[in-house]
Amino acid sequence: MSAPLWTLKDLAEAAKGDIAGEPHEEIAGISIDSRTLEPGDAFVAITGDRFDGHEFVKAALDANAAVCIVSKDKKDGLPEQGRYILVDDPLEALRRIGVAARARTDARVVAVTGSVGKTGTKEALRLCLERSGKVHASVASFNNHWGVPLTLARMPADTEYGVFEIGMNHAGEITPLVKMVRPHVAIITTVQAVHLEFFDSVEKIAQAKAEIFNGLEPEGVAVLNRDNMQFDLLMFLATTAGVSRIKTFGEGSSADSHTEKVSRHPGSSSVQASILGQEITYKIGASGQHHVRNSLAVLTAVVELGADLALAGLALADMHAPKGRGQVSSLRVQNGRFDLIDESYNANPASMKAALEVLGETPVSRPGRRVAVIGDMRELGEDADDLHKGLADPIHAAAVDAVYCVGSHMRKLWDELPGNVRGAYAEEAEALQDRLIEDVRPGDVIMIKGSLGTRMGPLVEALKKEY
Ligand code: ATP
Ligand code: MG
Repeated sequence: MSAPLWTLKDLAEAAKGDIAGEPHEEIAGISIDSRTLEPGDAFVAITGDRFDGHEFVKAALDANAAVCIVSKDKKDGLPEQGRYILVDDPLEALRRIGVAARARTDARVVAVTGSVGKTGTKEALRLCLERSGKVHASVASFNNHWGVPLTLARMPADTEYGVFEIGMNHAGEITPLVKMVRPHVAIITTVQAVHLEFFDSVEKIAQAKAEIFNGLEPEGVAVLNRDNMQFDLLMFLATTAGVSRIKTFGEGSSADSHTEKVSRHPGSSSVQASILGQEITYKIGASGQHHVRNSLAVLTAVVELGADLALAGLALADMHAPKGRGQVSSLRVQNGRFDLIDESYNANPASMKAALEVLGETPVSRPGRRVAVIGDMRELGEDADDLHKGLADPIHAAAVDAVYCVGSHMRKLWDELPGNVRGAYAEEAEALQDRLIEDVRPGDVIMIKGSLGTRMGPLVEALKKEY
């Protein structure tokens, strides 16, 4: 039997709460969702915008939660025969448990932020570090005010490497999170014009990302993208924040970790690189220059964390694009096949360009076509229309044969596209579905991408169902 994640005593002490009823002595995990809670987990009754976790305490107890961490003030409305730790504020208690979890481990810790590529980089780090020791990493994109403390609270005491994704929509959000995580290595993947709705400028976004330096351990290392437009500003901000060790990654040899030769194939890339002066050749099991770039940051962190670089290089071959973020399916149509690149999870200008680049690199068997089915990129504020129109260049560079557009911002791009590449336009994704299905030809490569709210995912599902 492995040790429990927490003993009741340690958990109550960390939460600064009072035990009530008869909770289990051993806590297997931490959950904030009664639907996915496993028997033996502690349930933390968080209050969000839409739900109050206290409403699900009964469900958590029925699912055999070891204990429920609840607000003292709400105790009266809860089942009398419950198992509780009573606290002032459950979210604050979760943060405290997170801080205690961090304090009790000797893990080497890496935190990842950036406008895009956080989850991809985090998952690559997980794969790479697993070859060297016991890894604990964030689930999905658990990167916000509850996701980060939850991930910390779930970190076993014997963790050797901790990998944390830290995200933000507003200035000031990263500082408290990174102060809990206390990373030895902080990666900023890239700073791009996303979430512009909440920021005046890309410089302001860079400043908000730079908050990650505020929690770096003494002697900690900042890993920065040498090719990013905001690089100089980030360097300045890192130095101002007192970061003494900065390592850079990028394409040119001026970066501490850089590529020397890259061969890109459909679905993978072969890379020869110099990582902090060490030569390494590796394969990445996902297509696109952005994965190559992210891999430089990953391997730099691997070295800085004291893990094995050669083993990490081998692990990158196992990396695959997750669902909705570049996953490729080969589907049958008439007496041939076509490739579907599913990028439907989300979109912003940076990831849209990366996806178009991948589309451009994917071989097409003629008379098949390169097809981009693209929906609005949201949350871009007043520059939205220009940023959409700006896709005309990457579309041209990728030699796209047909573009299908969804949404009112995409209308601006659509109006500017040359007639011979116009596939079809619709306000809503659903309205495009039948036309898209009808138009598929053998040999096509179809890439589908848009912000989550534009509902491009159902288009992917519809094509998969039909073919
Ligand atoms: P979220 O804020 O939604 O959690 P994220 O920062 O975790 O996003 P990922 O999920 O890793 O980002 O990637 C989002 C998209 O961006 C994917 O389509 C991926 O292919 C693309 N992408 C990843 N890294 C980069 C990069 N360095 N530059 C441009 N695009 C990238
Ligand atoms: Mg993410």
